[in-house]
Amino acid sequence: MFKPRVQRLFSSLHERLPSQCAVCRAWPSRPVCNGCVTRFAPPAARCATCALPMPAGVAQCGDCILRPPPLDACLAACAYAWPWPDCIARFKFRSDAGWAAPFATLLRSAPWVEPALEQADLVLPIPLAPVRLRERGFNQAHELARRLAPRKVDAILLLRTRETPAQSGLSRAERLRNLRGAFALEPLRAAAVQGRRIVLVDDVMTSGASLFAAAQVLRTGGALHITAIVLARTDLPG
Ligand SMILES: [Zn+2]
Ligand SMILES: [Zn+2]
Repeated sequence: MFKPRVQRLFSSLHERLPSQCAVCRAWPSRPVCNGCVTRFAPPAARCATCALPMPAGVAQCGDCILRPPPLDACLAACAYAWPWPDCIARFKFRSDAGWAAPFATLLRSAPWVEPALEQADLVLPIPLAPVRLRERGFNQAHELARRLAPRKVDAILLLRTRETPAQSGLSRAERLRNLRGAFALEPLRAAAVQGRRIVLVDDVMTSGASLFAAAQVLRTGGALHITAIVLARTDLPG
């Protein structure tokens, strides 16, 4: 009872103190300094519905034109490239929750993220399956989401019914097939998504298969508008 409360207090104090840049260690700085954001997370032209890097002025990638994903918009703060994979691995696998605040700041500073959060009725983290959540101790997407929109976040509405095996080497269609039935809405509260604007939050987007599968569940449940917000996006099409 007592210990988690003390830990929460310390982590909230830590987030309020001036600190070093988490990337280049400049001091004092915002959690990730302006120089590092400019250098390593510059605004980039991206596909409107899967956030794949695009030449300037091109709105959507070929995959999304041929097979429109169930997302109205997809926003990514940075490429999944140095220094971010290392930082994300520390956040995710070594349970270094101190990274949640700098990453949330990075996300919020990406173009269109603030307005998407403001317009959202609900902000839902991509859930982990219960067994994975027990192993890891926390869901990194939830850590990000609750810092982005503490009053709108809901971590128990969208459920992950099972974990899916590694998907690398599969086509987008195969990945989507693998994920069929992997997400569901909490049956008692499924009506909460009807007619709502929803933001989905995840840390890394590779093929987009998980985000698309989760979005499809929301769409089927009657969601009005769905935006995905991800910290880092790989540069390869799914
Ligand atoms: Zn820096
Ligand atoms: Zn696309």
